[in-house]
Amino acid sequence: MKYISTRGEAPVLSFEDVVLTGLANDGGLYVPETLPQFSQEDLNRLKGLSYEALAVEVMFPFVRESISREEFSVLVDKAYASFNHVARAPLVQLDSNTWILELFHGPTLAFKDFALQLLGQLLNHFLVKRGEHGVVMGATSGDTGSAAIEACVACDHLDIFILHPHQRVSEVQRLQMTSVIADNVGNIALEGNFDDCQQMVKSSFADQSFLPSGSRLIAVNSINWARIMAQVVYYFHAVLSLGGSASNSISFSVPTGNFGDIYAGYLAKKMGLPIDRLIVATNANNILHRAIADNDYSKQSLEKTWSPSMDIMVSSNFERLLFDAFGRDGAALAREMRSFEASGDMTLPASAYQYLVSEFASASVNDAQTIAAIQSTWERSQYLADPHTAIGIDAAHQCRQSDAQMVVCLATAHPAKFDEAIQKSGVSASIVLPPHLSDLLEREESFTVLENNLSGVQTWIQQQLQK
Ligand SMILES: *Cc1c(COP(=O)(O)O)cnc(C)c1O
Repeated sequence: MKYISTRGEAPVLSFEDVVLTGLANDGGLYVPETLPQFSQEDLNRLKGLSYEALAVEVMFPFVRESISREEFSVLVDKAYASFNHVARAPLVQLDSNTWILELFHGPTLAFKDFALQLLGQLLNHFLVKRGEHGVVMGATSGDTGSAAIEACVACDHLDIFILHPHQRVSEVQRLQMTSVIADNVGNIALEGNFDDCQQMVKSSFADQSFLPSGSRLIAVNSINWARIMAQVVYYFHAVLSLGGSASNSISFSVPTGNFGDIYAGYLAKKMGLPIDRLIVATNANNILHRAIADNDYSKQSLEKTWSPSMDIMVSSNFERLLFDAFGRDGAALAREMRSFEASGDMTLPASAYQYLVSEFASASVNDAQTIAAIQSTWERSQYLADPHTAIGIDAAHQCRQSDAQMVVCLATAHPAKFDEAIQKSGVSASIVLPPHLSDLLEREESFTVLENNLSGVQTWIQQQLQK
């Protein structure tokens, strides 16, 4: 499998290089040149496999030129060993035709663990093979930082430095990062806001001369191809578990921010999995809903919502879908993206827009509707949904075409992570952190407060690396 850029100019790369590279040097994102295909017969053969065994079957075609099946299988097992549910991604039935796919049983209680746990293993594997040392650097406004730290802490060829805005993340979010105390983990509380953190990371990637030789900076943000690939697996897991088939295809409702999670569902469908509708569920930051409903992909100002992990102005992975919508014409897409980057808005050509609406439905769910959905889900099914998940449930109701349509709503975070929103909904369920995190608030922490100054931060990182 070769990987090509959505803007058509960057070099064609192997899986190994794509995982270590991140953004393509023409500004595009890497996508596989072709997709592996699964017939109904193939799918029948996969029924009943464990999550890990299924993961190897689904992902191996994407990685086979870079890693042996045996080695890959060991990495997959290690990645999901830290999950605290034997099914990894259990299904819960809400009503006669609606299911919840719980993706929050990983170490940090959010679906990002599925992708990042595997990415950490893959990075470590390739770095060992090359005799190189990796330095992961990232900025976080909350969830991604802890999932990335948990993914790297056990990898001896990786150091990780995560910047968060000092005193601007919630206590639980901070503790999930800063209570991981290890030689290869550096938590930086930057005296600035999230944008300052991101700028610091960007500048460091642009000029890596502060690193010792033999080290390279690695990005683990949501555009990394391996993250998308890992997310394809749970769509297969859900459809196979529910007995989906060509005559009985299943729809998915996906709480969406950067379009990574739902793009993985789209790929699963293109690989032959019987998926009917893909519902893009957005909060008030609804650029994707406006694109699908009105062909209006235009930037608006950012609103703070009860579902902070979906608070985005533009969706970085949407470009991967647009590549297909533009008939895989990288040059045409590059022109369109450059114009969007300059003007902040985009109207798709008719054929591309047709493609988009033939694949996706969408809904926008505001804060009041989110809180109401938490409450009604509890009343109807005694199921406690976190605010992100509640948006998916509400969107499923809005977009369902018939009562008979089977819909799976992705639960992307554990409700205990967002207990403020739950309390706001008036639901009187007790919200408890799972056992492995029940003492989180009492744990020892380690982080360093640094000034918003690039050379100061880089010097501090150098010192940590020399320890
Ligand atoms: C990251 C995140 C999302 C959005 O996922 P995308 O892949 O960016 O669309 C939704 N819910 C939660 C809880 C998240 O952490």
